[in-house]
Amino acid sequence: MTAEHHNVVIIGAGFGGIGTSIKLAEDGVEHVILEKADDVGGTWLANQYPGCRCDVPSHLYSFSFALNPDWSDSYSLQPEIWRYLRRVAEEHRVVERVRFGCKVDAARWDDDAKQWRIETSQGTLTTNVLIAAHGFLSEPSVPHFEGIESFAGQVMHSAQWDPSYDVTGKRVGIIGTGASAVQIVPEVHKQATALSVFQRTAAWILPHRGRTIHAWERRLYRNVPATQRFVRGFHYWSSEFIAVPALMDPQRGKLLKKMARKHLEDQVPDPELRKRLTPAFTPGCKRLTPSNEYLPAIASPTTELVTSGIAKVVPDGIVTNDGVLHELDVIILATGFRVTDNSFPELITGKDGRTMRAVWDSADGMGAYNGTTFAGFPNLFMLAGPNTGIGHTSLVYMIEAQLPYVRDALRLMSERNIAAVEVRPDVQAAYNEHLQRRLGPTVWNTGGCKSWYLDKQGRNTTIWPDYTFKFARRLKRFDLESYYQQLQAPEPAAQLAAI
Ligand code: NAP
Repeated sequence: MTAEHHNVVIIGAGFGGIGTSIKLAEDGVEHVILEKADDVGGTWLANQYPGCRCDVPSHLYSFSFALNPDWSDSYSLQPEIWRYLRRVAEEHRVVERVRFGCKVDAARWDDDAKQWRIETSQGTLTTNVLIAAHGFLSEPSVPHFEGIESFAGQVMHSAQWDPSYDVTGKRVGIIGTGASAVQIVPEVHKQATALSVFQRTAAWILPHRGRTIHAWERRLYRNVPATQRFVRGFHYWSSEFIAVPALMDPQRGKLLKKMARKHLEDQVPDPELRKRLTPAFTPGCKRLTPSNEYLPAIASPTTELVTSGIAKVVPDGIVTNDGVLHELDVIILATGFRVTDNSFPELITGKDGRTMRAVWDSADGMGAYNGTTFAGFPNLFMLAGPNTGIGHTSLVYMIEAQLPYVRDALRLMSERNIAAVEVRPDVQAAYNEHLQRRLGPTVWNTGGCKSWYLDKQGRNTTIWPDYTFKFARRLKRFDLESYYQQLQAPEPAAQLAAI
């Protein structure tokens, strides 16, 4: 018997946890948020590397119920997004419900008590319902390079950037050319003496359309909120109807390639360097990375694009497969995140005593129903769960689309005296078969790249392969008929009355 029990426990105080907490509070549902960091913000707290910004338009990358008329840039930088989240969390009194510095070590379903038992760095607690809002890009992928322990300088992952570290006058090595590196490279290039970019796979770079939002526009959004809603709607619908068809059918994506090639030709005069910067895969297979500063920084005389592959790390720098030593003071790992193989599912133990990892390993890998619930794991809801990822629009939209589903489930459980809901395995299997069929011909699966969207078996367990409004429509109501239900045991007094 533990002292502390909650109706709902939420793991994580990023966009998912904050949004859920606001909506549960509106419904009068008692809950607490467990957050391992010492502040709210999730990914927007962790990622503080120079140049970190969102490549989704600011007006779209926010809660629909908490629009921010004061965005200063059409594509916001990390500090502004974090300040927005912090303000929203304060205004809605979410911060008061967060237990900071509280790391979840394990969560186990107790089928007798119909509760989750959670072990944390601050003790044990139990809850009727567990909502995992830990985020799928929260666990840095730190590849092991031979000799990395011997490196005399500093090694930093992009998502664990030490803001007090100054690269001015340093010889900097950046490993990786994904979305994070494309943002870091131009900023570091401005300050470093020399920059070596270790590229394994070139990235398609598109022109960036970012601009400062004028004071008069901000005034307009503040005074006439409908104008901001219009701009938000424009961004949402244009990316749905332009990007989704191109991603679903790579034949239609030729325009993207043309744009990216022209951008490369405009920005990199050297044909030999252009060749090394031209990817072999179809644009969209990996996340599209817009930047107007990345390619000029790579083409700069103080930058070296290294494509010969990393052999080992030595105290003075990185030795590549051609035997060359690249002398460095700092190595930045822009090597991405563990997504399909992260450790979270190892912490979660379901009804039959198996962890979520064991269940996934014995099946086809990661999988959920509606990206939210899991057969064998009653009363567990995940925000931004399997196959909820998107590359063309705002993940906040997907998270918000899940909230009515979770709220409706909690309402039905309360009204109908249901102690536990668990999605039926046949329903989950049929859902995933449908998703995989749709994913088959898409650019993520057929574009000829290796990305974090695919697991080791090449199965796409991360992307939602359709218009996002269809996802929102699916999750408008909780389909109780797809779930096993266990009713609350009657109260002892009620039992007596019945005799
Ligand atoms: P990423 O896209 O997974 O890129 C990781 C990079 O590291 C790739 O270039 C990869 O090369 C390289 N790499 C990994 N292991 C390596 C190794 N052992 N040796 C050499 N190179 C290695 O990671 P990310 O750039 O952090 O981006 C992850 C996701 O975060 C994005 O897709 C996006 O969803 C999100 N993000 C979003 C924004 C935004 O603006 N909204 C900004 C940053 C990040 P290969 O390509 O050869 O594997």
